[in-house]
Amino acid sequence: MNSPALSRSALDRAADKRRDESWLAAAWKTGRLLVIDAERRAAADDDGLLLVDTDGFDGERYFLGLDATGTAYWSGVGELPRRLGARPVTVRDVGAMLSDRDAGLYVTAVGLANWHETHPRCPRCGTATEPTAGGWVRRCPADGSDHFPRTDPAVIVLIHDGGDRCLLGRQPTWPRGRYSTLAGFVEPGESLEHAVVREIREESGVDVDDIVYRGSQPWPFPASLMLGFEARAVGGEAKVSDDELEDVRWFTRDDLRRGEPRLPPPASIAHWLIAGWLSRES
Ligand SMILES: [Zn+2]
Repeated sequence: MNSPALSRSALDRAADKRRDESWLAAAWKTGRLLVIDAERRAAADDDGLLLVDTDGFDGERYFLGLDATGTAYWSGVGELPRRLGARPVTVRDVGAMLSDRDAGLYVTAVGLANWHETHPRCPRCGTATEPTAGGWVRRCPADGSDHFPRTDPAVIVLIHDGGDRCLLGRQPTWPRGRYSTLAGFVEPGESLEHAVVREIREESGVDVDDIVYRGSQPWPFPASLMLGFEARAVGGEAKVSDDELEDVRWFTRDDLRRGEPRLPPPASIAHWLIAGWLSRES
């Protein structure tokens, strides 16, 4: 299956094991550990992410799943392991180059770490919560309520004209010359289709229809799930309509093939959406 770079995974999440404390304790001893640091970097060498023995790691541990041989994989936040030839990397840098297993491990580890760090207290009563269920739940010791990792849905849209052009925008903070697909968060009470229409209208002044879902990928910065669409422009005039973008512009397939504009990095679903549209003639 042709998936966005960070949608790849090779592990069984084995959610049925998360509440089995004795099983988890045994699986920790023989497991492999992915350590990420406070900046969400991991250590990697030319073979992929550096996974280490769990021996000696005393931080919070999160159970990520099992591979086909039954090996358990874990993540935690701490000091990056050192090895000759290893270097710190980020999801954005290496996400598209990692193996399916490592890509899935890394985005899950980052997403979980971000959630634990930003949800230390019970939303009902304010008491400090404690991680349980292999890191997939935080429980309030005062009222017994369970709280689960959150993911924020965002739509990201390749807008085309039904022919040879697509509409891309650029944010002022991006590297010079880079343009990308338009994106925005889904609001409460809103369907994905309504979010697509609203966001595109807000950011570019264009009305869209013929909305087609293409695929999704986690984007744990800090907690997004990107839902990728194509949509056809049917009205309005492309112009910057809010503070988020500094330019929106139509590009032809020939422009893109010539390297104009610079595209977002291969780990992004934006890159995948653009490449998918480009690979089709119409
Ligand atoms: Zn509580």
